[in-house]
Amino acid sequence: MAGDEIQTPSNFIKHIIEEDLKNNKNDGRVHTRFPPEPNGYLHIGHAKSICLNFGLAAEYNGLCNLRFDDTNPIKEEQEYVDAIIEDVKWLGFDWGERLYYSSDYFSQLYSYAVRLIEDGSAYVCDLSADEIREYRGTLREPGRESPYRNRPVDENLDLFERMKNGEFPDGSRTLRAKIDMASGNINMRDPVIYRIQRAAHHRTGDEWRIYPMYDYAHCVSDSIEGITHSLCTLEFEDHRPLYDWFLERLRIFHPQQIEFARLNISRAVMSKRKMLKLVEEGHVNGWDDPRMLTLSGLRRRGYTPASIRNFCERIGVAKASSTVDMALLEYCVREDLNKRAPRVMAVLRPLRVVITNYPETQTDELEAINNPEDPDAGTRKVPFSKIIYIERDDFMEDPPKKFFRLAPGREVRLRYAYFITCRDVVRDESGAINELHCTYDPETRGGDAPDGRKVKATLHWVSEAHALAAEVRLYDHLFNTEDPDNSGDGADFRTCLNPDSMTVLDGCLVEPSLSGAGPGSGFQFERLGYFSVDPDSSDERPVFNRTVTLRDTWAKIRKNKK
Ligand code: ATP
Ligand code: MG
Repeated sequence: MAGDEIQTPSNFIKHIIEEDLKNNKNDGRVHTRFPPEPNGYLHIGHAKSICLNFGLAAEYNGLCNLRFDDTNPIKEEQEYVDAIIEDVKWLGFDWGERLYYSSDYFSQLYSYAVRLIEDGSAYVCDLSADEIREYRGTLREPGRESPYRNRPVDENLDLFERMKNGEFPDGSRTLRAKIDMASGNINMRDPVIYRIQRAAHHRTGDEWRIYPMYDYAHCVSDSIEGITHSLCTLEFEDHRPLYDWFLERLRIFHPQQIEFARLNISRAVMSKRKMLKLVEEGHVNGWDDPRMLTLSGLRRRGYTPASIRNFCERIGVAKASSTVDMALLEYCVREDLNKRAPRVMAVLRPLRVVITNYPETQTDELEAINNPEDPDAGTRKVPFSKIIYIERDDFMEDPPKKFFRLAPGREVRLRYAYFITCRDVVRDESGAINELHCTYDPETRGGDAPDGRKVKATLHWVSEAHALAAEVRLYDHLFNTEDPDNSGDGADFRTCLNPDSMTVLDGCLVEPSLSGAGPGSGFQFERLGYFSVDPDSSDERPVFNRTVTLRDTWAKIRKNKK
Protein backbone atom coordinates (compact mmCIF):
# COMPACT_ATOMS: atom_id res chain seq x y z
CA MET A 1 0.00 0.00 0.00
CA ALA A 2 1.04 3.54 -0.68
CA GLY A 3 3.19 4.39 2.32
CA ASP A 4 5.42 7.28 3.33
CA GLU A 5 2.79 10.01 3.07
CA ILE A 6 1.70 12.42 5.74
CA GLN A 7 -1.60 11.94 7.56
CA THR A 8 -4.31 12.96 5.13
CA PRO A 9 -6.36 16.03 5.98
CA SER A 10 -10.03 15.64 6.74
CA ASN A 11 -12.80 16.12 4.20
CA PHE A 12 -16.59 15.96 4.09
CA ILE A 13 -16.59 12.29 3.05
CA LYS A 14 -14.54 11.34 6.10
CA HIS A 15 -17.05 13.16 8.27
CA ILE A 16 -19.84 11.08 6.77
CA ILE A 17 -17.89 7.85 7.28
CA GLU A 18 -16.98 8.73 10.85
CA GLU A 19 -20.61 9.50 11.62
CA ASP A 20 -21.62 6.14 10.11
CA LEU A 21 -19.00 4.33 12.17
CA LYS A 22 -20.23 6.04 15.31
CA ASN A 23 -23.74 4.81 14.57
CA ASN A 24 -22.47 1.34 13.68
CA LYS A 25 -24.09 1.65 10.27
CA ASN A 26 -23.18 -1.32 8.03
CA ASP A 27 -21.87 -3.07 11.18
CA GLY A 28 -18.95 -0.69 11.20
CA ARG A 29 -17.73 -1.75 7.76
CA VAL A 30 -16.17 0.62 5.24
CA HIS A 31 -16.10 -0.76 1.72
CA THR A 32 -15.45 1.37 -1.36
CA ARG A 33 -14.74 0.62 -5.01
CA PHE A 34 -13.05 2.21 -7.98
CA PRO A 35 -15.34 1.61 -10.98
CA PRO A 36 -13.67 2.51 -14.29
CA GLU A 37 -15.36 1.93 -17.60
CA PRO A 38 -12.82 0.17 -19.85
CA ASN A 39 -13.36 2.57 -22.74
CA GLY A 40 -10.04 4.37 -22.56
CA TYR A 41 -6.92 4.80 -20.45
CA LEU A 42 -6.97 6.23 -16.95
CA HIS A 43 -6.04 9.87 -16.48
CA ILE A 44 -4.98 12.04 -13.57
CA GLY A 45 -8.66 12.68 -12.76
CA HIS A 46 -9.09 8.97 -12.18
CA ALA A 47 -6.05 9.06 -9.91
CA LYS A 48 -7.99 11.40 -7.64
CA SER A 49 -10.80 8.86 -7.44
CA ILE A 50 -8.39 5.91 -6.98
CA CYS A 51 -6.49 7.64 -4.16
CA LEU A 52 -9.75 8.64 -2.53
CA ASN A 53 -11.40 5.21 -2.67
CA PHE A 54 -8.35 3.12 -1.78
CA GLY A 55 -7.15 5.75 0.68
CA LEU A 56 -10.40 5.80 2.65
CA ALA A 57 -10.53 2.01 2.78
CA ALA A 58 -6.98 1.91 4.15
CA GLU A 59 -7.62 4.66 6.66
CA TYR A 60 -10.75 3.03 8.10
CA ASN A 61 -9.54 -0.59 7.99
CA GLY A 62 -11.89 -1.28 5.15
CA LEU A 63 -11.71 -2.74 1.67
CA CYS A 64 -11.69 -1.29 -1.80
CA ASN A 65 -12.68 -3.24 -4.92
CA LEU A 66 -11.55 -2.68 -8.46
CA ARG A 67 -14.65 -3.09 -10.61
CA PHE A 68 -14.84 -2.69 -14.34
CA ASP A 69 -18.06 -1.06 -15.27
CA ASP A 70 -18.31 -2.90 -18.57
CA THR A 71 -21.90 -2.59 -19.74
CA ASN A 72 -21.29 -0.89 -23.09
CA PRO A 73 -19.58 -3.45 -25.35
CA ILE A 74 -19.37 -1.12 -28.33
CA LYS A 75 -16.82 1.15 -26.66
CA GLU A 76 -15.05 -1.29 -24.36
CA GLU A 77 -11.97 -3.37 -25.02
CA GLN A 78 -9.63 -5.80 -23.28
CA GLU A 79 -6.69 -3.49 -24.11
CA TYR A 80 -8.23 -0.88 -21.82
CA VAL A 81 -8.89 -3.42 -19.06
CA ASP A 82 -5.22 -4.46 -19.10
CA ALA A 83 -3.97 -0.87 -19.13
CA ILE A 84 -6.23 0.11 -16.22
CA ILE A 85 -5.05 -2.83 -14.10
CA GLU A 86 -1.44 -1.90 -14.78
CA ASP A 87 -2.04 1.75 -13.93
CA VAL A 88 -3.84 1.17 -10.63
CA LYS A 89 -1.09 -1.23 -9.53
CA TRP A 90 1.57 1.23 -10.60
CA LEU A 91 -0.05 3.97 -8.50
CA GLY A 92 0.55 1.67 -5.56
CA PHE A 93 -2.85 0.22 -4.73
CA ASP A 94 -3.92 -3.35 -4.14
CA TRP A 95 -7.44 -4.72 -4.48
CA GLY A 96 -6.44 -8.19 -3.21
CA GLU A 97 -8.76 -10.83 -4.64
CA ARG A 98 -11.46 -8.31 -5.35
CA LEU A 99 -11.22 -7.68 -9.07
CA TYR A 100 -14.78 -7.59 -10.39
CA TYR A 101 -16.69 -6.81 -13.54
CA SER A 102 -20.26 -5.60 -13.87
CA SER A 103 -20.52 -8.25 -16.58
CA ASP A 104 -20.02 -10.85 -13.80
CA TYR A 105 -23.48 -9.82 -12.66
CA PHE A 106 -25.34 -9.94 -15.98
CA SER A 107 -27.44 -12.93 -14.87
CA GLN A 108 -28.18 -11.42 -11.50
CA LEU A 109 -29.03 -8.09 -13.10
CA TYR A 110 -31.41 -9.89 -15.42
CA SER A 111 -33.17 -11.67 -12.54
CA TYR A 112 -33.53 -8.42 -10.65
CA ALA A 113 -35.06 -6.82 -13.74
CA VAL A 114 -37.59 -9.65 -13.86
CA ARG A 115 -38.39 -8.86 -10.23
CA LEU A 116 -39.01 -5.21 -11.13
CA ILE A 117 -41.40 -6.31 -13.89
CA GLU A 118 -43.24 -8.68 -11.54
CA ASP A 119 -43.67 -5.85 -9.04
CA GLY A 120 -45.09 -3.58 -11.72
CA SER A 121 -42.01 -1.32 -11.55
CA ALA A 122 -40.76 -1.92 -15.09
CA TYR A 123 -42.24 -2.41 -18.55
CA VAL A 124 -41.20 -3.26 -22.07
CA CYS A 125 -41.55 -0.22 -24.32
CA ASP A 126 -41.73 -0.31 -28.12
CA LEU A 127 -40.89 3.36 -28.70
CA SER A 128 -37.73 4.05 -30.70
CA ALA A 129 -34.86 5.97 -29.17
CA ASP A 130 -36.00 9.13 -30.96
CA GLU A 131 -39.56 8.69 -29.74
CA ILE A 132 -38.41 8.11 -26.17
CA ARG A 133 -36.49 11.36 -26.35
CA GLU A 134 -39.50 13.16 -27.76
CA TYR A 135 -41.79 11.80 -25.04
CA ARG A 136 -39.34 12.68 -22.30
CA GLY A 137 -40.22 16.40 -22.24
CA THR A 138 -37.85 19.15 -21.17
CA LEU A 139 -36.77 20.88 -18.00
CA ARG A 140 -39.83 23.12 -18.29
CA GLU A 141 -42.31 20.63 -19.70
CA PRO A 142 -43.31 17.31 -18.17
CA GLY A 143 -42.92 14.19 -20.30
CA ARG A 144 -45.69 12.08 -21.77
CA GLU A 145 -46.36 8.51 -20.80
CA SER A 146 -45.41 5.81 -23.28
CA PRO A 147 -48.42 4.06 -24.83
CA TYR A 148 -46.80 0.78 -23.68
CA ARG A 149 -46.51 1.86 -20.07
CA ASN A 150 -49.49 -0.12 -18.81
CA ARG A 151 -48.73 -3.44 -20.44
CA PRO A 152 -49.81 -6.34 -18.26
CA VAL A 153 -47.05 -7.98 -16.23
CA ASP A 154 -47.29 -11.29 -18.12
CA GLU A 155 -46.85 -9.61 -21.46
CA ASN A 156 -43.84 -7.68 -20.12
CA LEU A 157 -42.26 -10.86 -18.78
CA ASP A 158 -42.79 -12.62 -22.10
CA LEU A 159 -41.42 -9.75 -24.18
CA PHE A 160 -38.42 -9.21 -21.92
CA GLU A 161 -37.48 -12.86 -22.15
CA ARG A 162 -37.77 -12.71 -25.92
CA MET A 163 -35.62 -9.56 -25.96
CA LYS A 164 -33.02 -11.62 -24.16
CA ASN A 165 -33.41 -14.50 -26.60
CA GLY A 166 -32.66 -12.25 -29.52
CA GLU A 167 -36.09 -12.29 -31.14
CA PHE A 168 -36.21 -8.55 -31.82
CA PRO A 169 -33.95 -6.24 -33.79
CA ASP A 170 -31.53 -3.85 -32.11
CA GLY A 171 -33.17 -0.72 -30.80
CA SER A 172 -36.72 -1.96 -31.38
CA ARG A 173 -37.63 -2.33 -27.73
CA THR A 174 -36.34 -1.38 -24.29
CA LEU A 175 -37.11 -2.26 -20.71
CA ARG A 176 -37.96 0.89 -18.78
CA ALA A 177 -38.45 1.71 -15.12
CA LYS A 178 -41.98 2.85 -14.33
CA ILE A 179 -41.39 5.94 -12.21
CA ASP A 180 -42.82 9.35 -13.04
CA MET A 181 -43.00 11.08 -16.44
CA ALA A 182 -43.80 14.37 -14.71
CA SER A 183 -40.83 14.31 -12.35
CA GLY A 184 -38.82 17.51 -12.13
CA ASN A 185 -35.76 15.27 -12.42
CA ILE A 186 -35.54 14.05 -15.99
CA ASN A 187 -33.55 11.01 -14.91
CA MET A 188 -36.70 9.78 -13.16
CA ARG A 189 -38.89 9.95 -16.28
CA ASP A 190 -39.09 6.22 -16.90
CA PRO A 191 -35.38 5.70 -17.66
CA VAL A 192 -34.29 2.81 -19.83
CA ILE A 193 -32.98 -0.21 -17.90
CA TYR A 194 -32.09 -2.54 -20.78
CA ARG A 195 -31.45 -2.05 -24.48
CA ILE A 196 -31.18 -4.58 -27.29
CA GLN A 197 -27.73 -4.55 -28.81
CA ARG A 198 -26.03 -7.27 -30.83
CA ALA A 199 -22.47 -6.51 -29.95
CA ALA A 200 -19.75 -8.90 -28.86
CA HIS A 201 -18.71 -8.18 -25.30
CA HIS A 202 -15.02 -8.44 -24.42
CA ARG A 203 -15.82 -10.93 -21.67
CA THR A 204 -19.23 -12.48 -22.33
CA GLY A 205 -18.88 -12.69 -26.12
CA ASP A 206 -22.23 -13.22 -27.87
CA GLU A 207 -24.02 -14.57 -24.82
CA TRP A 208 -26.14 -11.46 -24.37
CA ARG A 209 -28.22 -9.48 -26.85
CA ILE A 210 -29.48 -7.11 -24.19
CA TYR A 211 -27.27 -4.94 -22.02
CA PRO A 212 -28.17 -3.08 -18.81
CA MET A 213 -27.84 0.70 -18.65
CA TYR A 214 -25.22 2.29 -16.39
CA ASP A 215 -27.62 3.72 -13.79
CA TYR A 216 -29.19 0.34 -13.19
CA ALA A 217 -26.05 -1.80 -13.37
CA HIS A 218 -24.02 0.49 -11.17
CA CYS A 219 -26.19 0.61 -8.06
CA VAL A 220 -26.96 -3.11 -8.25
CA SER A 221 -23.25 -3.97 -8.65
CA ASP A 222 -22.45 -1.79 -5.62
CA SER A 223 -25.14 -3.60 -3.68
CA ILE A 224 -24.01 -7.09 -4.68
CA GLU A 225 -20.46 -6.26 -3.56
CA GLY A 226 -21.65 -4.84 -0.24
CA ILE A 227 -20.18 -1.43 -0.98
CA THR A 228 -20.95 0.93 1.90
CA HIS A 229 -19.91 4.27 0.43
CA SER A 230 -20.26 4.66 -3.32
CA LEU A 231 -18.22 7.69 -4.29
CA CYS A 232 -18.75 9.33 -7.64
CA THR A 233 -18.32 12.67 -9.31
CA LEU A 234 -20.75 15.57 -9.11
CA GLU A 235 -22.50 15.00 -12.42
CA PHE A 236 -24.17 11.96 -10.84
CA GLU A 237 -25.89 14.01 -8.15
CA ASP A 238 -29.08 14.13 -10.23
CA HIS A 239 -28.85 10.38 -10.70
CA ARG A 240 -28.84 9.65 -6.98
CA PRO A 241 -32.65 9.49 -6.68
CA LEU A 242 -32.58 6.80 -9.36
CA TYR A 243 -29.74 4.95 -7.62
CA ASP A 244 -31.87 4.91 -4.47
CA TRP A 245 -35.08 4.05 -6.31
CA PHE A 246 -33.70 0.85 -7.88
CA LEU A 247 -32.29 -0.41 -4.60
CA GLU A 248 -35.47 0.36 -2.68
CA ARG A 249 -37.67 -1.33 -5.25
CA LEU A 250 -35.41 -4.38 -5.33
CA ARG A 251 -35.24 -4.45 -1.52
CA ILE A 252 -31.52 -5.25 -1.56
CA PHE A 253 -28.52 -3.89 0.36
CA HIS A 254 -28.41 -0.13 -0.04
CA PRO A 255 -25.01 1.60 -0.33
CA GLN A 256 -24.86 5.37 0.07
CA GLN A 257 -23.91 7.36 -3.01
CA ILE A 258 -21.76 10.41 -2.23
CA GLU A 259 -20.68 12.90 -4.88
CA PHE A 260 -17.45 14.92 -4.98
CA ALA A 261 -16.00 17.39 -7.47
CA ARG A 262 -14.11 16.21 -10.54
CA LEU A 263 -10.52 17.17 -10.92
CA ASN A 264 -9.85 19.64 -13.72
CA ILE A 265 -6.37 20.85 -14.58
CA SER A 266 -5.50 23.98 -16.51
CA ARG A 267 -4.18 23.58 -20.05
CA ALA A 268 -5.47 20.03 -20.30
CA VAL A 269 -8.55 18.08 -21.27
CA MET A 270 -9.77 15.57 -18.75
CA SER A 271 -12.11 13.30 -20.62
CA LYS A 272 -11.46 9.92 -22.18
CA ARG A 273 -13.62 10.86 -25.15
CA LYS A 274 -11.47 13.88 -25.96
CA MET A 275 -8.26 12.04 -25.27
CA LEU A 276 -9.38 9.29 -27.64
CA LYS A 277 -9.81 11.93 -30.34
CA LEU A 278 -6.27 13.21 -29.74
CA VAL A 279 -4.97 9.66 -30.10
CA GLU A 280 -7.10 8.65 -33.10
CA GLU A 281 -6.41 11.84 -35.03
CA GLY A 282 -2.68 11.61 -34.37
CA HIS A 283 -2.32 14.86 -32.41
CA VAL A 284 -0.31 12.80 -29.93
CA ASN A 285 1.60 9.53 -30.25
CA GLY A 286 -0.77 7.22 -28.43
CA TRP A 287 -2.40 7.11 -25.01
CA ASP A 288 0.99 7.06 -23.32
CA ASP A 289 2.33 10.12 -25.10
CA PRO A 290 4.25 12.01 -22.39
CA ARG A 291 2.19 15.14 -23.10
CA MET A 292 -1.04 13.39 -22.11
CA LEU A 293 -2.28 13.52 -18.53
CA THR A 294 -3.05 9.81 -18.69
CA LEU A 295 -1.36 7.74 -16.00
CA SER A 296 0.57 5.89 -18.71
CA GLY A 297 1.61 9.22 -20.26
CA LEU A 298 2.71 10.61 -16.91
CA ARG A 299 4.63 7.41 -16.18
CA ARG A 300 6.41 7.63 -19.52
CA ARG A 301 7.14 11.28 -18.85
CA GLY A 302 8.87 10.28 -15.62
CA TYR A 303 6.24 11.03 -12.98
CA THR A 304 6.54 8.79 -9.93
CA PRO A 305 3.54 7.16 -8.24
CA ALA A 306 4.39 8.99 -5.01
CA SER A 307 4.31 12.37 -6.76
CA ILE A 308 0.83 11.68 -8.11
CA ARG A 309 -0.44 10.41 -4.76
CA ASN A 310 0.93 13.52 -3.07
CA PHE A 311 -0.72 15.69 -5.68
CA CYS A 312 -4.05 14.01 -4.97
CA GLU A 313 -3.62 14.64 -1.24
CA ARG A 314 -2.76 18.27 -1.78
CA ILE A 315 -5.78 19.04 -3.96
CA GLY A 316 -8.11 17.50 -1.37
CA VAL A 317 -11.71 16.48 -1.85
CA ALA A 318 -14.59 18.93 -1.95
CA LYS A 319 -18.12 19.37 -3.23
CA ALA A 320 -17.43 22.44 -5.32
CA SER A 321 -15.65 21.97 -8.60
CA SER A 322 -12.53 23.96 -9.37
CA THR A 323 -9.55 23.87 -11.68
CA VAL A 324 -6.11 23.06 -10.38
CA ASP A 325 -3.09 24.77 -11.88
CA MET A 326 -0.79 22.46 -13.85
CA ALA A 327 2.09 24.05 -11.93
CA LEU A 328 0.98 22.19 -8.78
CA LEU A 329 1.32 18.83 -10.52
CA GLU A 330 4.79 19.86 -11.67
CA TYR A 331 5.68 21.05 -8.20
CA CYS A 332 4.76 17.63 -6.77
CA VAL A 333 6.94 15.67 -9.17
CA ARG A 334 9.83 18.11 -8.80
CA GLU A 335 9.65 17.78 -5.04
CA ASP A 336 9.70 13.99 -5.21
CA LEU A 337 12.45 13.74 -7.83
CA ASN A 338 14.56 16.22 -5.91
CA LYS A 339 14.71 13.61 -3.15
CA ARG A 340 15.30 10.54 -5.31
CA ALA A 341 16.81 11.42 -8.68
CA PRO A 342 20.56 10.92 -9.15
CA ARG A 343 22.31 13.99 -10.57
CA VAL A 344 24.19 13.58 -13.82
CA MET A 345 25.60 15.84 -16.50
CA ALA A 346 24.17 16.07 -19.99
CA VAL A 347 24.61 18.65 -22.71
CA LEU A 348 21.56 19.19 -24.87
CA ARG A 349 22.95 21.67 -27.43
CA PRO A 350 26.68 20.96 -27.44
CA LEU A 351 29.47 23.44 -28.11
CA ARG A 352 32.92 21.89 -28.51
CA VAL A 353 35.66 23.15 -26.21
CA VAL A 354 39.32 22.28 -26.68
CA ILE A 355 41.44 22.69 -23.55
CA THR A 356 44.66 23.68 -25.28
CA ASN A 357 47.03 23.20 -22.33
CA TYR A 358 45.55 19.83 -21.26
CA PRO A 359 47.70 16.80 -22.21
CA GLU A 360 46.47 15.02 -25.34
CA THR A 361 46.25 11.50 -23.91
CA GLN A 362 45.30 12.26 -20.34
CA THR A 363 41.99 11.41 -18.67
CA ASP A 364 40.99 12.61 -15.23
CA GLU A 365 38.50 10.71 -13.12
CA LEU A 366 36.70 13.37 -11.11
CA GLU A 367 34.54 12.67 -8.14
CA ALA A 368 30.91 13.82 -8.43
CA ILE A 369 28.13 13.77 -5.83
CA ASN A 370 25.17 11.63 -6.88
CA ASN A 371 22.53 13.42 -4.87
CA PRO A 372 23.18 16.24 -2.39
CA GLU A 373 19.69 15.62 -0.93
CA ASP A 374 20.50 12.01 -0.18
CA PRO A 375 23.75 11.33 1.70
CA ASP A 376 23.37 7.58 1.06
CA ALA A 377 23.49 8.08 -2.70
CA GLY A 378 27.29 8.37 -2.65
CA THR A 379 29.58 9.56 -5.40
CA ARG A 380 30.74 8.48 -8.85
CA LYS A 381 33.66 9.14 -11.16
CA VAL A 382 33.17 11.40 -14.18
CA PRO A 383 35.85 11.33 -16.90
CA PHE A 384 37.46 14.57 -18.06
CA SER A 385 39.74 14.97 -21.07
CA LYS A 386 41.18 17.45 -23.55
CA ILE A 387 37.98 17.94 -25.53
CA ILE A 388 34.74 18.58 -23.76
CA TYR A 389 31.32 19.95 -24.63
CA ILE A 390 29.41 22.66 -22.86
CA GLU A 391 25.92 24.03 -23.50
CA ARG A 392 25.80 26.47 -26.44
CA ASP A 393 23.70 28.78 -24.26
CA ASP A 394 26.51 28.97 -21.73
CA PHE A 395 28.75 30.95 -24.05
CA MET A 396 28.26 34.44 -25.48
CA GLU A 397 30.79 36.20 -27.57
CA ASP A 398 29.50 39.62 -26.71
CA PRO A 399 27.73 39.14 -23.38
CA PRO A 400 25.26 41.63 -21.91
CA LYS A 401 25.85 42.91 -18.38
CA LYS A 402 24.04 40.19 -16.48
CA PHE A 403 25.53 37.24 -18.37
CA PHE A 404 28.11 35.65 -16.06
CA ARG A 405 28.84 32.47 -17.93
CA LEU A 406 31.61 31.86 -20.45
CA ALA A 407 32.78 34.70 -22.73
CA PRO A 408 36.09 35.59 -24.39
CA GLY A 409 38.77 36.15 -21.76
CA ARG A 410 36.49 35.08 -18.91
CA GLU A 411 37.09 32.32 -16.36
CA VAL A 412 34.35 29.93 -15.15
CA ARG A 413 34.18 26.68 -13.23
CA LEU A 414 33.43 23.33 -14.82
CA ARG A 415 31.38 21.40 -12.30
CA TYR A 416 33.53 18.97 -10.25
CA ALA A 417 36.47 19.70 -12.59
CA TYR A 418 38.57 22.80 -13.20
CA PHE A 419 38.45 26.51 -13.85
CA ILE A 420 38.77 27.27 -17.54
CA THR A 421 39.37 30.55 -19.38
CA CYS A 422 38.17 31.22 -22.90
CA ARG A 423 41.08 32.24 -25.17
CA ASP A 424 39.80 31.88 -28.70
CA VAL A 425 36.64 31.50 -30.74
CA VAL A 426 37.01 29.26 -33.80
CA ARG A 427 34.56 29.68 -36.70
CA ASP A 428 33.62 27.73 -39.79
CA GLU A 429 33.52 29.24 -43.33
CA SER A 430 30.00 30.58 -42.76
CA GLY A 431 31.16 32.46 -39.70
CA ALA A 432 29.27 30.28 -37.22
CA ILE A 433 31.06 29.39 -34.00
CA ASN A 434 32.59 25.94 -34.36
CA GLU A 435 34.49 25.53 -31.12
CA LEU A 436 36.19 27.38 -28.31
CA HIS A 437 39.79 27.19 -27.31
CA CYS A 438 40.25 27.44 -23.56
CA THR A 439 43.00 26.90 -21.06
CA TYR A 440 42.53 25.22 -17.71
CA ASP A 441 44.23 25.82 -14.37
CA PRO A 442 45.47 22.43 -13.06
CA GLU A 443 45.54 23.91 -9.54
CA THR A 444 41.74 24.11 -9.47
CA ARG A 445 41.05 20.36 -9.69
CA GLY A 446 37.76 19.57 -7.97
CA GLY A 447 36.45 23.07 -8.57
CA ASP A 448 38.26 25.37 -6.10
CA ALA A 449 41.20 27.71 -6.55
CA PRO A 450 43.89 27.46 -3.82
CA ASP A 451 44.44 31.21 -4.05
CA GLY A 452 40.79 31.78 -3.21
CA ARG A 453 39.85 33.54 -6.44
CA LYS A 454 36.20 33.33 -7.36
CA VAL A 455 34.31 32.74 -10.58
CA LYS A 456 30.70 33.74 -11.17
CA ALA A 457 29.47 30.64 -12.96
CA THR A 458 29.64 26.86 -12.82
CA LEU A 459 28.89 25.03 -16.04
CA HIS A 460 28.03 21.41 -16.69
CA TRP A 461 29.96 19.56 -19.37
CA VAL A 462 30.74 16.14 -20.84
CA SER A 463 33.95 14.66 -22.22
CA GLU A 464 33.95 14.05 -25.97
CA ALA A 465 35.85 10.78 -25.75
CA HIS A 466 33.50 9.36 -23.12
CA ALA A 467 30.05 10.86 -23.67
CA LEU A 468 27.12 8.90 -25.10
CA ALA A 469 25.07 10.34 -27.94
CA ALA A 470 21.44 10.64 -26.92
CA GLU A 471 18.08 11.90 -28.06
CA VAL A 472 16.22 14.19 -25.70
CA ARG A 473 12.56 15.08 -26.01
CA LEU A 474 11.42 18.31 -24.44
CA TYR A 475 7.76 18.85 -23.68
CA ASP A 476 5.58 21.86 -23.18
CA HIS A 477 1.85 22.13 -22.47
CA LEU A 478 -0.28 20.34 -25.03
CA PHE A 479 -2.68 23.29 -25.16
CA ASN A 480 -1.86 26.95 -25.34
CA THR A 481 -4.94 28.19 -23.50
CA GLU A 482 -5.84 27.82 -19.84
CA ASP A 483 -9.15 26.11 -20.52
CA PRO A 484 -9.14 24.22 -23.83
CA ASP A 485 -12.62 22.88 -23.07
CA ASN A 486 -14.03 26.39 -23.26
CA SER A 487 -11.85 28.13 -25.74
CA GLY A 488 -14.46 30.75 -26.56
CA ASP A 489 -16.76 31.16 -29.58
CA GLY A 490 -17.64 27.49 -29.19
CA ALA A 491 -14.26 26.60 -30.70
CA ASP A 492 -13.22 22.97 -30.54
CA PHE A 493 -10.52 22.03 -28.01
CA ARG A 494 -8.34 20.87 -30.89
CA THR A 495 -8.04 24.42 -32.20
CA CYS A 496 -5.87 25.41 -29.25
CA LEU A 497 -3.33 22.61 -29.47
CA ASN A 498 0.17 23.96 -28.91
CA PRO A 499 2.17 23.27 -32.12
CA ASP A 500 5.40 23.46 -30.10
CA SER A 501 4.43 21.00 -27.38
CA MET A 502 7.29 18.64 -28.29
CA THR A 503 10.86 19.42 -29.33
CA VAL A 504 13.17 16.57 -30.24
CA LEU A 505 16.89 17.25 -29.77
CA ASP A 506 19.01 14.87 -31.72
CA GLY A 507 22.63 15.54 -31.00
CA CYS A 508 22.68 15.50 -27.22
CA LEU A 509 25.56 14.11 -25.19
CA VAL A 510 25.26 12.52 -21.77
CA GLU A 511 27.87 11.33 -19.31
CA PRO A 512 28.91 7.67 -19.60
CA SER A 513 27.40 6.62 -16.25
CA LEU A 514 24.02 6.72 -18.02
CA SER A 515 24.94 3.76 -20.17
CA GLY A 516 22.40 0.98 -19.70
CA ALA A 517 19.92 3.04 -17.66
CA GLY A 518 16.60 1.21 -18.00
CA PRO A 519 13.34 2.72 -19.21
CA GLY A 520 11.62 4.66 -16.49
CA SER A 521 14.77 5.55 -14.55
CA GLY A 522 14.80 9.19 -13.62
CA PHE A 523 17.71 11.62 -13.36
CA GLN A 524 18.36 15.24 -12.76
CA PHE A 525 20.44 16.64 -15.59
CA GLU A 526 22.32 19.29 -13.64
CA ARG A 527 21.02 22.80 -14.34
CA LEU A 528 18.51 21.50 -16.90
CA GLY A 529 15.70 19.62 -15.22
CA TYR A 530 14.49 16.10 -14.50
CA PHE A 531 14.62 13.51 -17.26
CA SER A 532 13.43 9.95 -17.59
CA VAL A 533 14.57 7.14 -19.88
CA ASP A 534 11.97 6.49 -22.57
CA PRO A 535 10.95 2.94 -23.58
CA ASP A 536 12.19 3.81 -27.11
CA SER A 537 15.68 3.84 -25.64
CA SER A 538 18.33 1.32 -26.69
CA ASP A 539 21.91 0.71 -25.61
CA GLU A 540 23.10 2.29 -28.84
CA ARG A 541 20.83 5.27 -28.51
CA PRO A 542 19.45 6.35 -25.16
CA VAL A 543 16.28 8.46 -25.35
CA PHE A 544 15.23 10.78 -22.53
CA ASN A 545 12.00 12.60 -21.83
CA ARG A 546 12.11 15.82 -19.91
CA THR A 547 9.78 15.22 -16.98
CA VAL A 548 9.86 18.77 -15.67
CA THR A 549 12.17 21.76 -15.58
CA LEU A 550 13.95 22.84 -12.43
CA ARG A 551 12.16 26.15 -12.13
CA ASP A 552 9.31 26.15 -9.66
CA THR A 553 6.49 28.27 -11.00
CA TRP A 554 4.10 26.99 -8.33
CA ALA A 555 5.98 28.76 -5.53
CA LYS A 556 5.55 32.00 -7.44
CA ILE A 557 1.85 31.41 -7.99
CA ARG A 558 1.37 30.73 -4.28
CA LYS A 559 3.30 33.83 -3.30
CA ASN A 560 1.24 36.02 -5.61
CA LYS A 561 -1.97 34.62 -4.18
CA LYS A 562 -0.96 35.41 -0.61
P1 ATP B 1 -14.28 10.47 -18.57
O1 ATP B 1 -15.25 11.60 -18.56
O2 ATP B 1 -12.87 10.89 -18.61
O3 ATP B 1 -14.59 9.41 -19.58
P2 ATP B 1 -15.60 8.90 -16.63
O4 ATP B 1 -16.14 9.48 -15.40
O5 ATP B 1 -16.57 8.55 -17.69
O6 ATP B 1 -14.44 9.82 -17.14
P3 ATP B 1 -15.11 6.32 -15.57
O7 ATP B 1 -14.27 5.24 -16.11
O8 ATP B 1 -16.56 6.14 -15.57
O9 ATP B 1 -14.72 7.63 -16.37
O10 ATP B 1 -14.59 6.77 -14.14
C1 ATP B 1 -14.25 5.89 -13.10
C2 ATP B 1 -14.30 6.66 -11.82
O11 ATP B 1 -13.39 7.74 -11.85
C3 ATP B 1 -15.67 7.24 -11.58
O12 ATP B 1 -16.03 7.03 -10.24
C4 ATP B 1 -15.49 8.70 -11.88
O13 ATP B 1 -16.37 9.47 -11.16
C5 ATP B 1 -14.03 8.94 -11.51
N1 ATP B 1 -13.49 10.05 -12.27
C6 ATP B 1 -13.44 10.19 -13.61
N2 ATP B 1 -12.93 11.38 -13.97
C7 ATP B 1 -12.62 12.02 -12.82
C8 ATP B 1 -12.07 13.31 -12.51
N3 ATP B 1 -11.71 14.16 -13.46
N4 ATP B 1 -11.90 13.63 -11.20
C9 ATP B 1 -12.25 12.76 -10.23
N5 ATP B 1 -12.77 11.55 -10.46
C10 ATP B 1 -12.97 11.18 -11.73
MG1 MG C 1 -18.23 7.11 -17.06
